[in-house]
Amino acid sequence: MRNSGIQESGIADQTRIQATIVRAESGYYTARHGGQETVCVLRGRLKEAMYEEADDGGRYRRYADPLAVGDEALISVSGIDGAVEELLPRRSKLARLLPKADDRARAPDVEQIIAANIDAVVIVASVKRPRLNLRYIDRLLILAEYGGAQPILLLNKCDLLTTDERAELDQTVQRIYGPAGVEMFGASALQPETLEPLKERIKGLFSVFVGQSGAGKSSILNALDPSLNLRVGQVSEATRKGRHTTAFVQMYEMPFGAQIADTPGLREVGIWGTPTEMLDYYFKEMRPYLGTCRFSDCWHFEEPGCAVRGAIETGGVSPERYQSYRRLCQEGPVEEHERRTKRLR
Ligand code: GDP
Ligand code: ZN
Repeated sequence: MRNSGIQESGIADQTRIQATIVRAESGYYTARHGGQETVCVLRGRLKEAMYEEADDGGRYRRYADPLAVGDEALISVSGIDGAVEELLPRRSKLARLLPKADDRARAPDVEQIIAANIDAVVIVASVKRPRLNLRYIDRLLILAEYGGAQPILLLNKCDLLTTDERAELDQTVQRIYGPAGVEMFGASALQPETLEPLKERIKGLFSVFVGQSGAGKSSILNALDPSLNLRVGQVSEATRKGRHTTAFVQMYEMPFGAQIADTPGLREVGIWGTPTEMLDYYFKEMRPYLGTCRFSDCWHFEEPGCAVRGAIETGGVSPERYQSYRRLCQEGPVEEHERRTKRLR
């Protein structure tokens, strides 16, 4: 027996198709299914899932957006119109705290999922013009780890360094990120052959490329696939607050057999989901020392007998990473995230 209610709604004959979200832009999602692409809207039920009830009974927004590029979903298609009916479980994600306008500093925290079901997060960082931003990298390392993806650090614009400077850079990043086991590649978008090792590494994977605007992400992607023809050098004042921008994330199929999600330049990468008292665990090189401090609840600040600070002496933890840890602790990314994210992970 068919359900007459369903027939009346006019969707009785619409089958649900599994699709991959390949582009997300202000409420519209391009879903790819069997070589076809359909632009979809969200069913009301999914929009509703963006909100969550708080302990005080109030409703607040939980996600900036319920779907992200890389998500698998069930969609229904009618002619050229599509609707996302159901989101399928994610295996990983890259998410950040949705940046808040200055006058809304006390607004509730909202999670922004940048990409889903990713294997790797490729952090594109410029080594010169602009100079390397360690704090930015550290935040993304945490977010990648938290989201269940492998972080890869791509040090771009190496062509701007002299041989000596390059050797010094290699030594420095090894000292800082070696103990955390961070995978690193040096490259230049102007010398495509320098990208071969990265290509080899991300072949067969789905990676999301992130970076500050100006780091050279568009140039790198163009070097990986010249047919992309992404605009370069748009160091955008337009992304500053108050201006409307068409920021979208899009997945590209690379000619060398990889999938890449390109993202708009991320100015801020606010920590999401990791409670302050667990930050030491997300600084991977600190892990071997955790639990060996004199005090079991050691914050590794001024406490006597701190094994993490002891590790700075032996090179197990670099002073730069330790300072980064302390700054993030003071920023306090935050018990509230924890409460909200625990059951959703
Ligand atoms: P995005 O904002 O991260 O996408 O950066 P773009 O690709 O737009 O590059 C920003 C600026 O840096 C542009 O002027 C590029 O020409 C330049 N650039 C990008 N990659 C390199 C590189 O490897 N070496 C040098 N010298 N300049 C680069
Ligand atoms: Zn300690």
